[in-house]
Amino acid sequence: MLGENKVVRLASVLILFFSLAVILATRQGEPPSEGASTEDLLRLADQLLAGEEISFDKEGIFGGDAFNVITEREREEAKSYPPVVFREYVVRKGDNIWKIAKKFGLDWYTVLSVNRLKNANYLRPGQKLRIPNQRGVLHVVKRGETLEDIALKYDVKISHIVGANRITDPDQIKAGTELFIPNAKLTYKKRQEIVRRSNIPPTFIMPCRGRISSRFGWRLHPIYHRRMFHSGIDIVAPRGTLVYAARSGRVKFAGWLGGYGRLVVIDHGNGYETRYAHLSSILVRKGQRVRTGQPIGRVGNTGVTTGVHLHFEVRRGGKPVNPLSFLRFR
Ligand SMILES: [Zn+2]
Repeated sequence: MLGENKVVRLASVLILFFSLAVILATRQGEPPSEGASTEDLLRLADQLLAGEEISFDKEGIFGGDAFNVITEREREEAKSYPPVVFREYVVRKGDNIWKIAKKFGLDWYTVLSVNRLKNANYLRPGQKLRIPNQRGVLHVVKRGETLEDIALKYDVKISHIVGANRITDPDQIKAGTELFIPNAKLTYKKRQEIVRRSNIPPTFIMPCRGRISSRFGWRLHPIYHRRMFHSGIDIVAPRGTLVYAARSGRVKFAGWLGGYGRLVVIDHGNGYETRYAHLSSILVRKGQRVRTGQPIGRVGNTGVTTGVHLHFEVRRGGKPVNPLSFLRFR
């Protein structure tokens, strides 16, 4: 049996259905994406039955009052705005998102967003990327979303969006359209969202000032005189030079360990850790939380070394990875 409440709701749904049908009939000739579909009506009915409050503006089922969104003057302004042009870039060995962005004077999130990258870890040599000629992000227009909404969301001028995308009819932006939003300002939250969505690997700063004397990979070992895998990079610096945490985290180990000599290991979460070896002194304790750039020790030559230097490692899931592909030089 239907409760009295439900009967009332059902009746209002029917009335609503009817009135929407009338509205639809009077709006014929307009593009279907602008009007209310059966799907919208059913969703609306669902909401009503569930006792939800319905806001027509928020739902935007009438496509919003997106008419004459820009003035004549803005139209002129839009015409003189540089249009977005994409070029192709083929990923090279050793490339990462930051390197590529820097190379073209762009922000990392521009490269990510324009290419709709789901996982920034999987950039592989030979992969093709779209590179825009200006800073910004890609936005896919949602149903019922207007140019005003988009301009507000990214804190940019409507005329710039119209100009960059050479939109001929600003009153008719269809859902699903890809728009380039020039100079979009992303909030911290929004940037974090992109980072999460893209599985971006963490970045590390250089742990100390100095010259890189030996890189990651196979090399002839200077002491054992045979080919050995170098699990990190060596940075030459005077004894006593401060060594900084390459990223925030928790000290996992601080003490003497075999050939490493005096060693600090920092756990950064998500399976990443960094190691700082051959230190002359250690400035942190096991279990301590450290911030990026916090001094953790001093350069020395403890353990197996041929001279004073810092041996720096980045490990992912226990496996050494090339620190240079994670370093973000500032
Ligand atoms: Zn080394």
